Amino acid sequence: MTILRLILADQLSASISSLHGIDRDKDVVLLCEVMAEAIYVKHHKKKIAFLFASMRHFAEELKEDGLQVRYIKLDDPDNTATFEGEVKRAIKACNPKQVIVTEPGEYRLQRIFQSWQTTLKVPVEVRSDSRFLASTDEFSVWAKDKKQLRMEFFYRDMRKKYHILMDAEGKPEGGQWNYDKENRKPPQQGLTSPKRMSHQKSTITHEVLQLVEKKFADHFGHLQPFHFAVTRSQALMELNHFIGTLLPRFGDYQDAMVMGEPYLYHSLISAYLNAGLLLPLEICQLAEQAYRAGTAPLNAVEGFIRQILGWREYIRGIYWLHMPQYAELNFFAAKRQLPDFYWTANTKMACVAEVVQQTEDHAYSHHIQRLMITGNFALLAGINPVEVCEWYLLVYADAYEWVELPNTLGMALYGDGGIVGSKPYAASGKYINRMSNYCESCYYHVEETLGERACPFNALYWDFIARNQNKLQGNQRMPYVFATWNKMAEDKRNAIRKQAALTFNKLDNGTL
Ligand SMILES: Cc1cc2nc3c(=O)[nH]c(=O)nc-3n(C[C@H](O)[C@H](O)[C@H](O)COP(=O)(O)OP(=O)(O)OC[C@H]3O[C@@H](n4cnc5c(N)ncnc54)[C@H](O)[C@@H]3O)c2cc1C
Ligand code: SF4
Repeated sequence: MTILRLILADQLSASISSLHGIDRDKDVVLLCEVMAEAIYVKHHKKKIAFLFASMRHFAEELKEDGLQVRYIKLDDPDNTATFEGEVKRAIKACNPKQVIVTEPGEYRLQRIFQSWQTTLKVPVEVRSDSRFLASTDEFSVWAKDKKQLRMEFFYRDMRKKYHILMDAEGKPEGGQWNYDKENRKPPQQGLTSPKRMSHQKSTITHEVLQLVEKKFADHFGHLQPFHFAVTRSQALMELNHFIGTLLPRFGDYQDAMVMGEPYLYHSLISAYLNAGLLLPLEICQLAEQAYRAGTAPLNAVEGFIRQILGWREYIRGIYWLHMPQYAELNFFAAKRQLPDFYWTANTKMACVAEVVQQTEDHAYSHHIQRLMITGNFALLAGINPVEVCEWYLLVYADAYEWVELPNTLGMALYGDGGIVGSKPYAASGKYINRMSNYCESCYYHVEETLGERACPFNALYWDFIARNQNKLQGNQRMPYVFATWNKMAEDKRNAIRKQAALTFNKLDNGTL
């Protein structure tokens, strides 16, 4: 008898566990574009177009491979707009003895799948997602009895487990686990990066672009120009281009930010990796091969591999370990509304305007822009984490809750009180000025803390430190900061607080 195998938009891998053991003659693979998933947060137009186009191409590839596919388009007149509705319709049409699905990347969907055990008339098997390099059970075992879950130690275990960048004696390649002190250089004057790929659009992609333009016109972001890869072979071209051309300088400019250069030496693979078009192990192995072949230096390769083998897996582990309570955490009790300029880029702060504009244009910004510009501002200004997390979830093409939430709530906002990060990533304009050229064209003056044109990040930084001194007092990594604040003359501290209050006024009346 038939088995119905449901594949979600971020499960576009031929090796996905829900397809294991498929009977090509009897089983039916179900892929559906459902409105409920496209609008539960109003995702960036490019993100929706990327996912629908990738799903449609993936379905075609499965058919070419001899599988029976039931594909429901968004504008199919009978589309019920929800997964549950579509699974029920498929059950009626195909009469399967069982439904199989791979575990989803969001707690919300996991709950829905669990409810199907009772609401559907056939048994449902939810399989674990073997594309990740550490299963959720494995992560729980690693986390058990540890006071602090530091990524660095988890990463070392993963290096050993997969024998990535290890030498013949089982020691880390080059003698060290981490080469970050050679990475993260400020951008030098005139730094640019090579041109990025743009993929030819098939009829399928053109159809999807028209659909998205019509149905999601009020969503954030610009749909055109659309350069995304939408098949595994195109995503592999992106990956190979990165490994061959950009990886050697990845480490050097990993934290750099340059006006008009959204990508620099970053890989741009997160959307493909998270949707299943690329797999994490193959990426790490290709990067390692580049090092062994002598085409990329160890500091760059190790730094890149750490992001995927370390951070990505660790972040996922944290998500599943702490959900559902995690989403509710708000360590600083932050409650200010998300400013309008997160949608419009209409602010005199050149750094924020640049990152928001770039996000609107590309559904992308790189890690340091997310962390130290939009994230840092939200942290310092005390923006409500629920609103900040929703923004991050909908604006980026690579965003799914398992990866977005711990990065935003934990790493950027320290809203989890230190589960992900050992201290808040709070920074004044000085850091932004060191790592970017944004300040050169800004209305505000980065070296000033007081006055009409003083950089807002400066007073907000000290105000944040002062406001939260009690909460952060015990933090082992912050005594120097508190000592500096406490040593400042009283009138200077008062002036900074007053400046911060003026900045909040501007924020509230939309003139910042
Ligand atoms: C506030 C905030 C929100 C974020 N939200 C997301 C998100 O929704 N989805 C997402 O994939 N990443 C997220 N990240 C992590 C990171 O910013 C992106 O993975 C990265 O910018 C993607 O661009 P890239 O492919 O060019 O990455 P590169 O800089 O080239 O890095 C290579 C790969 O490493 C992985 N990686 C690097 N850092 C992280 C990390 N902290 N967590 C997980 N994977 C990582 C990604 O798969 C990435 O593709 C977020 C970071 C912050 C600070
Ligand atoms: S001066 Fe301040 S607000 Fe302006 S770009 Fe620099 S850090 Fe950003």
